[in-house]
Amino acid sequence: MLSLENTKKSKDVFQAFNVQGRKNFLEKPTLCPLCGFHEMGAVELLGVKPGPFFWECERCNSRFLRYTFRETKKFLKESEKLWYDLDGLDTIWLELPN
Ligand SMILES: [Zn+2]
Repeated sequence: MLSLENTKKSKDVFQAFNVQGRKNFLEKPTLCPLCGFHEMGAVELLGVKPGPFFWECERCNSRFLRYTFRETKKFLKESEKLWYDLDGLDTIWLELPN
């Protein structure tokens, strides 16, 4: 069971990543679920999970889950030790060594 502290932290993390909603898309959506734009990109989080971790709209920059909310939280938690700079979350995949 999640503690209140964990829940709060996870929510902040999802906000930090600009993740929209809790629905996950195993395959990259062809259209942005939020604005309907047709170009979606993939965001990798080095050190968390190989391959795309979030889908990102090229127009509105909203991000969407690839894995379920529960799995996403688990992967993020497992890699928590790598997050020594919470303010740098938005660019952490650019900074972390492989
Ligand atoms: Zn969009």
